[in-house]
Amino acid sequence: MFIKPLEIPEHILFAKSMDRRTPASHSSKKTISNRAVNLLSGYKGESSMKYHLQFLPEDEFHILHYVRIPDLYGHFQIDFLILSRWFHLIMEVKNIYDNMNFDDMGQTYREIDGKVDVFANPVEQINMQQRRYLDWLRKHGFPLLPIEKIVVYSRDDTYLRNLTNDKIISDIVMHRDKVLSKIETLMNKHQSPLISEDHLMEISWRLLNEHVPEDADGMEKFGIDYSDLIKGVICPACSAVPMRWKSGKWWCPSCSCVSKTAHRPALADYALLAGDYINNRQARDFLQLKSIHTAKRLIQQENFQEFGKTSGRRYKIDIDKLVNDKVHNENAKVHT
Ligand SMILES: [Zn+2]
Repeated sequence: MFIKPLEIPEHILFAKSMDRRTPASHSSKKTISNRAVNLLSGYKGESSMKYHLQFLPEDEFHILHYVRIPDLYGHFQIDFLILSRWFHLIMEVKNIYDNMNFDDMGQTYREIDGKVDVFANPVEQINMQQRRYLDWLRKHGFPLLPIEKIVVYSRDDTYLRNLTNDKIISDIVMHRDKVLSKIETLMNKHQSPLISEDHLMEISWRLLNEHVPEDADGMEKFGIDYSDLIKGVICPACSAVPMRWKSGKWWCPSCSCVSKTAHRPALADYALLAGDYINNRQARDFLQLKSIHTAKRLIQQENFQEFGKTSGRRYKIDIDKLVNDKVHNENAKVHT
């Protein structure tokens, strides 16, 4: 079962919002866009694992997505930690296009038309995670059990080449469609339960409690000020900005599509970039709305927590609700 389900981490949402709201003319635009693309592609690779992992026996495995645990050296981060009473499995997910080579010097690289990109060696990376996780179990006095590890390439079309036929690499590195059979092999290898159900639960809860999400970078790091940001509601169909509020709907002057909910991602952008609290004036400025009443209605329909009265009233934007409220977001699809 998913103890810590897949959810897009806030620092990635932040990177995405920054990219959407930074004008193309800004000197940091390229850095910001590259960062957003890389983080999103990593998350996309991880979320594609959900399909495969759901086939694991529900009661026997605890699956934790994205755990980041403090230790003596900072934090160690694991893409998926799969816990059972027989063994624990650390899974590192890579989303790399085209090809990936493992050579005799422990280098990993992609080569396209003679151009070589060298990457950090994922096997060394996962060995380090294994050591740090083991130290963590020891520190808490949990019984020790085998810690297995795999590196999974999430794109089916990545050509993996183990240039020296290194047994360790062929054992640990794989495509995502091999993951379930690998776990089956591990289940056959470790047949006696080494910890109780209670211990397993306790380890999961301790990890959940100690998880510290990565901080978003902050706009200052990229030399961006609130006044630099692109304001207005972005068209969900063609990305033009700003949409206009007309007869109870957002209307896009570029592609003429209409939407009742296009302001919701804009409010999430505001919360991620400018802060969780918003008042009517700030909402009008960011959504590029003239009417105080419309701004009030749009914010109040979200049932955010309210603070203060009349003109000083502020609302606490619930990012999670805006991002994960799929039912609401889908019910109000774009019409053209
Ligand atoms: Zn449009």
